[in-house]
Amino acid sequence: MNKSNVWLVGAGPGDAGLITIKGLLCIQCADVIVHDRLVNPELIAQAPEHCEIINVGKEHDYHPIPQEEINQILLKYALAGKRVVRLKGGDPYVFGRGGEEAEVLAQHGIQFEIVPGISSSIGGLAYAGIPVTHRDYASGFHVVTGHTAQGSEQQNWEVLAQLEGTLIILMGMSRLEEICRQLIRYGKSPATPAAVIMYASHPKQDRVIGTLKTLPAKAEEKKLHAPALIVVGDVVNLSETLSFTPDSITSDELFSQLKNSTGGAI
Ligand code: SAH
Repeated sequence: MNKSNVWLVGAGPGDAGLITIKGLLCIQCADVIVHDRLVNPELIAQAPEHCEIINVGKEHDYHPIPQEEINQILLKYALAGKRVVRLKGGDPYVFGRGGEEAEVLAQHGIQFEIVPGISSSIGGLAYAGIPVTHRDYASGFHVVTGHTAQGSEQQNWEVLAQLEGTLIILMGMSRLEEICRQLIRYGKSPATPAAVIMYASHPKQDRVIGTLKTLPAKAEEKKLHAPALIVVGDVVNLSETLSFTPDSITSDELFSQLKNSTGGAI
């Protein structure tokens, strides 16, 4: 490893095997891991024994540790010369305030690196049998938040309703009904295929498939809640055909196989 003090590492959407090799290496070399709630515990278990583990888990609408405090934790350990791994769900720069954390580090002259991860907004859909693009159904995709920062502008649903392709909404569950209503109001057909995927790629993954009109009631009936992805577009129709059950190989096996195949380098 080089002289970086902090690595902002994407842990992937849930399935521990979806972390990158570099991300796993960072965990295995960490003195301190500062992680979010959604990060798979199997990944944290890969940390060395001396490593300090700090859970700054955040839930939707519920921030046990304010962002400012998280920034201070990163600074404190980095300035003390520790190897700090900031382990974040999905990709560190797709929502989740990774950009702000990196800015703070940069402002304080701390060497940092970004280790990108598989975002739930793409990989999470795949685990529910939904390809984010498809030659026949979607020539592009848009990833937006349903939950904008306090005091900032709301999403422009009028514009979003006009876009072709797949629309993926993160952090939108508390406004699911409103989001579907707005998209219909501004011109999307009520029959547009739509889905909610909860805990994508986790063992407790669940989903509902419907249309913009039927989705809110169906999601409520099944009691789906955050963390979940809302997906709107024709690719949703492929979900039945393209769903799969991930191989039962556990992450432990996966990681030890990886160790053997690299002669213990990992
Ligand atoms: N950086 C993350 C997103 C952080 S914002 C990424 O790239 O995936 C947190 C939101 O992401 C959640 O509210 C939810 O909408 C979505 N999310 C993250 N992981 C998820 C998962 N495994 N299943 C469903 N939604 C998920």
